[in-house]
Amino acid sequence: MKDVKKLRDSFNVTKLIRPDLEKLIPYDAHLYPEAIKLDANENPFPFPQAVAQQMAALVADELLSRYPDSDAIELRKDIAEYAGVLPEQVMAGNGSDELILNILLTFGTGGRVLITNPTFGMYKIHALIAGARPIPVPRRSDFSVDVPALVSYARKPEARVIFLCSPNNPTGNASTLEEIEGVLQQVNCLVVVDQAYLEFGGEDCTPLLNRYPNLLILRTFSKAFATAGLRVGYMLAHPDVLRQIKKVKQPYNLNSFSQAAARVVLKNKEHFKLQIQEIKEQREKVYQNLQSLEGVTSYPSVTNYILFRTNYASKTVYQGLLEKGVLIRQLGGPELPGFLRMSIGTPEENTKFLQALTEVLEQLREEKDNC
Ligand SMILES: *Cc1c(COP(=O)(O)O)cnc(C)c1O
Repeated sequence: MKDVKKLRDSFNVTKLIRPDLEKLIPYDAHLYPEAIKLDANENPFPFPQAVAQQMAALVADELLSRYPDSDAIELRKDIAEYAGVLPEQVMAGNGSDELILNILLTFGTGGRVLITNPTFGMYKIHALIAGARPIPVPRRSDFSVDVPALVSYARKPEARVIFLCSPNNPTGNASTLEEIEGVLQQVNCLVVVDQAYLEFGGEDCTPLLNRYPNLLILRTFSKAFATAGLRVGYMLAHPDVLRQIKKVKQPYNLNSFSQAAARVVLKNKEHFKLQIQEIKEQREKVYQNLQSLEGVTSYPSVTNYILFRTNYASKTVYQGLLEKGVLIRQLGGPELPGFLRMSIGTPEENTKFLQALTEVLEQLREEKDNC
């Protein structure tokens, strides 16, 4: 018999991991159950009871005991109708996060992926996981996309995929259709336009789909449709592009319940439209309030979150808010020094956030004066 102890002592998992993954830090979403949750751009309203009941009624024998429809045929039909495209132009995913990874596994590995920073962090993480090289192409100081810079990077060999988030997370601004079309016209690589927040604002890119076979649009049920827990996202693209991506897609990526429940959401979309309207009104109120706070710079947003900056380290402000029971997103780093992002909550939550922020900044000012 082999000496198991010796084997165990000599085993070192860090010698086996892909060297390019060694420095990657596992995604760690901390839970703070007591805090008001304004950190992940979710829909803050209680989920409509009537819609939840329709979903609960879906749980029956076949839905549980059989493998899901790997093509999500019925859901794709409903999404196609909602988005105004053909079912062949739709692929459903386990959140748009899964689709981002699948795009990169199909086209990115070994190549370069252009990312218009500051933006959603998962493009870079999934590029690294897929073995692609993420290349940051900085946005301008007003957070608009530097189209000429992006195009010149995209013309270099090995450029495979561009990620362009519009409206952009975390900055809250959107690119115009003209800017996006300008990029599509001038490059040969794929252009992924992430429209996770389209229901809140920004221009819909689907009119460009039939003209540009290199356009991929990402959308999700997670934000406006209040179902981040279901993990349903989708991609709109040319059928030839989707056929290639299907090669890497897990056959049963989207479970049966989520497929059926997402269809229920679309049947009840009017419920959510009212919430979206309320969130947009709240966004303007919070923005005005932030503008009037001393020492705060806030940025206009067409989404359900607001980017803002103070003169203190973002970590300090973040911690101060958390101690007062308000969880927001801390940004910071060399790209966004002193910046934070808050998701629009219910009217009560927004009031509590503004109150807490006012108090935290007062405390910090006092501390500074006493130094
Ligand atoms: C939240 C978010 C996503 C992720 O959506 P899922 O469908 O929940 O995976 C994708 N893109 C952006 C820009 C987001 O903010």
